[in-house]
Amino acid sequence: ELKEKMISLGEKPFKGKQLYQWLHQKAAGSYEEMTNLSEGLRKKLTEQEPLTHLEVVEVQTSKIDGTQKYLFQLADGNVIESVWMQYKHGNSVCISSQVGCRMGCRFCASTIGGLTRNLLPSEMLDQVYRIQELTGERVSNVVVMGTGEPLDNYDNLIRFIRILSDEKGQNISQRNLTVSTCGLVPRIRQLAEEDLTITLALSLHAPNDEKRKELMPIAYKYSLSEVLPACKYYFEKTGRRLTFEYSLVGGKNDSQEDARQLAGLVHGLNCHINLIPVNPIKERDFEQSTQNNVAAFKHILERQHIQVTVRREMGRDIQAACGQLRKSYKERSGDE
Ligand code: SAH
Repeated sequence: ELKEKMISLGEKPFKGKQLYQWLHQKAAGSYEEMTNLSEGLRKKLTEQEPLTHLEVVEVQTSKIDGTQKYLFQLADGNVIESVWMQYKHGNSVCISSQVGCRMGCRFCASTIGGLTRNLLPSEMLDQVYRIQELTGERVSNVVVMGTGEPLDNYDNLIRFIRILSDEKGQNISQRNLTVSTCGLVPRIRQLAEEDLTITLALSLHAPNDEKRKELMPIAYKYSLSEVLPACKYYFEKTGRRLTFEYSLVGGKNDSQEDARQLAGLVHGLNCHINLIPVNPIKERDFEQSTQNNVAAFKHILERQHIQVTVRREMGRDIQAACGQLRKSYKERSGDE
């Protein structure tokens, strides 16, 4: 596409390759930096194809674990958030896929104001590029678990994944990329056909449809008898072990009976369950499970030989849960 663009501007096609290198390998922040493109060409590009460049509005750094939360402003004034986390195995970035979200999960701060718009592939990429620039460190893992439902922005998501993992770009391995979904069944099946090796994470959060409906409106549209076979299909097509996210909400989905039902539900699936103590948000009165309940829940799954981990909470002191920073920023600036 860039080669064609160059031809249309009366340039040699190989200029497209140089432009691609600037954009995705060197992650340039402006056309000005692209010194092997002529001044005339840079001027034309600046006028015709404004370069996506996210501006940092706010950075919060956790005193507990060094997790950093970035609030970025887009060209149209909307703000989005991304999180940078350091682990022993490398640096990880959690990106947003939409401005807001229309999925309505009850415990999630990102969805309270609804969906404003989809993010462009460049706006997803630039979250990773700018964080690498600002931290001076290479990002090895990317999780699409920030604000938004990535499979509700499907085409842009696929383009983002292909460019991010392109060996001529940042070359971040698809195996180190995770996409988290609340469970859009037709899209999960479509994703299975894309010939990608990314990890699929499903936000499960309940052991049956009845309880799932209380937490996630999407459960009214797709029952677990449709969602789980779609996940199984994803595994069969890609060979990638599934991740199930299960946010533990005190008194809602964290009983020992819930754990036993959950074990039965995922029986026979090649999966890993990630238990997430729910991060309470002020707009809802959900409570975290007690440590005892979390331990008992985990133990029941382990006894059934299900791989399970409790997600380490990071950045608790900096509102690092989905959508909290963006929401508080908008409230402070009188936007909502
Ligand atoms: N829309 C996608 C990805 C964004 S949310 C999805 O639903 O998977 C990423 C994960 O964080 C999801 O599992 C979501 O349910 C969970 N989550 C959102 N708010 C949370 C909160 N306050 N506490 C715990 N988990 C939360």
